[in-house]
Amino acid sequence: MDVNLAAHFKHGRQQLEGLPSVAKLSDQVMVILGLNPGPYTLQGTNCYLIGRGRKRVLVDTGEGRAEFVESLVQVLHGEDCEITDVILTHTHVDHIGGLPDLVQRFPDLQVWRCQPASGLSFGQLGTAEDATDPAQTLGKCRQTRFRPLKNGEVLKLHGSTLKAIHTPGHANDHVCFWLEEEKALFTGDHILGTGTVIVQDLEAYMSSLELLHSFRPERIYPGHGPMLQGDAARNRPRDYIQHRHLRLKKALELLEVGARSFEQLLDGVYGSSLPADAFLRHAARRNLEASLEKLQKDGLARRLSAHTWGMARKTSTNAGDKLQDRQKASNGYAREGELRGVLQRARPQWSTKDLAAAEAKLLSIGICTAEKLAEQLAASVLNDNLRSGGFRAFAAETLQALREASSSFRCRRGVHPTQAVPESETVD
Ligand SMILES: [Zn+2]
Repeated sequence: MDVNLAAHFKHGRQQLEGLPSVAKLSDQVMVILGLNPGPYTLQGTNCYLIGRGRKRVLVDTGEGRAEFVESLVQVLHGEDCEITDVILTHTHVDHIGGLPDLVQRFPDLQVWRCQPASGLSFGQLGTAEDATDPAQTLGKCRQTRFRPLKNGEVLKLHGSTLKAIHTPGHANDHVCFWLEEEKALFTGDHILGTGTVIVQDLEAYMSSLELLHSFRPERIYPGHGPMLQGDAARNRPRDYIQHRHLRLKKALELLEVGARSFEQLLDGVYGSSLPADAFLRHAARRNLEASLEKLQKDGLARRLSAHTWGMARKTSTNAGDKLQDRQKASNGYAREGELRGVLQRARPQWSTKDLAAAEAKLLSIGICTAEKLAEQLAASVLNDNLRSGGFRAFAAETLQALREASSSFRCRRGVHPTQAVPESETVD
């Protein structure tokens, strides 16, 4: 991992840089802070005003502090503009709490939000932001024109082109936005400017990260914390994926050596990095629970009781059985050895160090599985992707050997040939 996602922790507590309450971030994006700082909201919710002309779009509305509305109104006066549309990243109260005040002041506002068919998933994170039923807040805006947002929908609003990307995981109605003109992502609570986020459904969350990674954003405008740009923006989805993979692997290792109670697992996964702050400690607990739920979904772990977990089935010391356990896994964190296996088969003459370096560079460009490697080889885009990720391309001969070694994975989503991982390899 290139960045330490916990670098802002000093002695278990968050140390955040100060952010201005209003800032112009580009020629078409301004940020107005929601003035609601807190352990989860960091310096407060970032509300973004998008556009250049008289008519503008607002992304998110803060939690409903009166000072925020005043601050926003001042900005609108200063810029000599008005808001016609509000786009909501999701319906946690720190993003929609300001909406009733706003629609009262600007009754013609059009409000865009994702409306999942299954309804809204509030209350599952156990935090204040997620505790309020969004229907309460939205119910105060009865006269408002709500417009449903669909995945992939493109909004052309006053010269800005915004594409909605449904990104469930932190919340099931979460949407990120791609600002075409700047190759920038508005990431709401899916990716923050500092640290990591609390997760409701880890499987969905990680799939959404993969999707965001594919955009290769030049900028990230997060829902909380400072804007990211350049490599920090391009790499952040991948850094988040790797961070989650590491947590999953660690939890799996602990289960394998016999850890059972949730507290044991928490100690083992977080160790001394467990935050001192009670709110953030809660987030760590929620995210470990989400990791264990994902391991259970992947057929690797099972819940034994409310507070104890175990391996999916009696773990055998037989390497073949362990291998089968791994092959049940549906995501890269448990299949990284698979990638190493393909490299080893293609290049048996390479040293362990060379194999590890090749594996690391593949992981760095988002290739976690042999199947993904095979896909990129088949489409002849692997070397291009390596170069654009700042890595040396593979020699033609190596490419050919990799093609042969990985060909059995192509078009076999969910099926992992047993030869992929050498039997001698241990689960690490
Ligand atoms: Zn949220």
